[in-house]
Amino acid sequence: MDVISRINELKEILNKASEAYYVNDKPFMEDYEYDRLMEELIKIENEHPELRTPDSPTNRIGGEVLSKFEKVTHSVKMASLSDAFDYDELKEFDKRVKSIAPTATYLCELKIDGLSVSLKYEDGILVLGATRGNGIIGENITHNVKTIKSVPLKLKNNESLEVRGEIFMPKKSFIALNLEREENEEELFANCRNAAAGSIRQLDSKVAAKRNLDVFLYYNLDQNVKTQEEALIQLKEKGFKVNPLYRHCKDINDVISYIEEMGNLRPNLEYDIDGIVIKVNEIELHDIIGETVKYPKWAIAYKYPPEEVSTELLDITYQVGRTGVITPVANFKPVFVAGSLISKATLHNEDYIHQKDIHVGDIVIIHKAGDVIPEVVKPILEKRKDNFTPFKMITNCPCCNSVLKREKDEADYYCTNPNCPEKQINGLIHFASKPAYNIDSLGDKLVEQLYNLGFIKSIPDIFKLKDRYNELINLPGLGVKSIDNLLAAVENSKKNNLDQLLFGLGIRHCGAKVSKLICKKYRNIDNIINATFEDISSIPDIGEVIAEEISNYFKDENNLNLINELKELGLNMEFEMGEIIENFFTNKKCVLTGTLQSMGRTEAKKLIEGFGGALSESVSKKTDILILGENPGSKYDKAKALGIYIMNEAEFLEKIK
Ligand code: NAD
Repeated sequence: MDVISRINELKEILNKASEAYYVNDKPFMEDYEYDRLMEELIKIENEHPELRTPDSPTNRIGGEVLSKFEKVTHSVKMASLSDAFDYDELKEFDKRVKSIAPTATYLCELKIDGLSVSLKYEDGILVLGATRGNGIIGENITHNVKTIKSVPLKLKNNESLEVRGEIFMPKKSFIALNLEREENEEELFANCRNAAAGSIRQLDSKVAAKRNLDVFLYYNLDQNVKTQEEALIQLKEKGFKVNPLYRHCKDINDVISYIEEMGNLRPNLEYDIDGIVIKVNEIELHDIIGETVKYPKWAIAYKYPPEEVSTELLDITYQVGRTGVITPVANFKPVFVAGSLISKATLHNEDYIHQKDIHVGDIVIIHKAGDVIPEVVKPILEKRKDNFTPFKMITNCPCCNSVLKREKDEADYYCTNPNCPEKQINGLIHFASKPAYNIDSLGDKLVEQLYNLGFIKSIPDIFKLKDRYNELINLPGLGVKSIDNLLAAVENSKKNNLDQLLFGLGIRHCGAKVSKLICKKYRNIDNIINATFEDISSIPDIGEVIAEEISNYFKDENNLNLINELKELGLNMEFEMGEIIENFFTNKKCVLTGTLQSMGRTEAKKLIEGFGGALSESVSKKTDILILGENPGSKYDKAKALGIYIMNEAEFLEKIK
């Protein structure tokens, strides 16, 4: 391929990857791969400067600024950092620095894998939080930044300043969030960085508030200090959260020892890091050393190689999920990655395996996404033996042998046999699990044991266990006390809210969130059973695929019999609105002025309160929203003067749906 074609190809790939990473928070390529391609483009452009164009990704910082946010022009550009991928590159950097500033020493900090933020304070009050955006213009995310507990809303001294740092999601929160998303059948985040970016760039601050984001600050634009180390100490004194693991290193060898030490610590840190930032410690030297359009020349980011190991793929096995979905699983020779021994990783579906060209017998590269979720990156083609077993998706269920079905436009295969034991066990485990019917004492192992012994073959059997008390207490390993606890928990669970039952039924695509939306609209099981496809699909956030699954489920005679049996066993079939459903109005103070056409004041109040908001009589500084009816009174003028958010009736109706 000629140079021009390669440049164009690289630009196209990098631009696409950048958009997926920065704009959509859904990368389709490993960072390491992206960095390598970027390096190649930089190299070609250096060799052929005449081919460098202003729109090249090598000139760009970050991504597009999303139009859904207010734009913010940064007072001082938010730069990126140049990268070093090995110690030779670091030594080159050191040489360049020392040739200009022979007395320079270095301050090393962890490179937190999150997204940069700028925080502006006026007279001690946080007035602005902004993303880096394209370095010049960022997005106003103040409403979300305010939900981060470690961001001070008010400073001890009433000073005006601007600080910069990194917002991140701790590993624990990332795992919990992905588990929740799995339950809700939502797309998973690839790593901590994308989860943090996806959470902070939300219009509704309730979402960000629930995501346990955190922040480390490392730069004060208005600092009056001599060294970067003093800058960090001063930031801490002012009440900002500063990562404590920084170190002052007198030379590049010290820097390398620090990198090694932190590399060993990395798997045990509570947050994800992707490298070490090395900055010239003496601030007066920064101007002397200078900067390029994109980076300061007095700092560099050393990037850790991805923690990848290779191992042999011994087998691909298959799991049958509660909905019958078949998930291929890679079983490999156990290896240590990022602090733990792993031997399995999901391969998602047939298409994924074909795209990655993975076959049993291959030597494959394994890593952990976000340092936590094991993933097969790719096979090492040079090491492929002649006798590898070409991958072929199974055609029959690994548990019950019935023929698998792949729906049009779906990547997954399903076992459609309602009596498939593995599917039934997983369905029962799901029903009893915490996010669903939450039956305390009925854990995964016990479900499996009771299923295999013939005590529970279906959901109603759980509620009939009490009829077999004498048999149960004689089971090995289960004492009277544990059986009493189990039966009490089962009885107690019958009062559960209807959305827990709906979710527990395990209807495909009907996750916890969808179940709540459905119950909120229909209030009892009979209304849900009678709802038409058109009606269900008119609910905001419920698409046609989900609506079709739900309406088909309740057309099936067997499912209707199941519901009737559960009704007779005394399970609650009503949805209690008492429980607050979080939405736009949660924790908001609203005031209504004028007359609404669609409902009276009492009804509006009830609806707002149902979402955990409040409707009060008069406008004050504490009011969040003014709802504007016809012929508004003086409250309208007051709200305008106070800059309170004003919504008309149409918007109100949209938001309470
Ligand atoms: P960068 O991540 O290489 O480094 C600059 C950033 O580091 C700063 O903006 C700051 O936010 C952050 N940082 C963290 N800790 C810091 C500290 N202590 N001091 C100073 N800064 C600190 O650069 P970038 O421009 O943010 O992103 C480029 C990276 O994004 C690439 O390395 C690439 O791997 C990744 N990327 C990946 C894809 C993909 O498809 N996988 C696409 C685009 C970009």
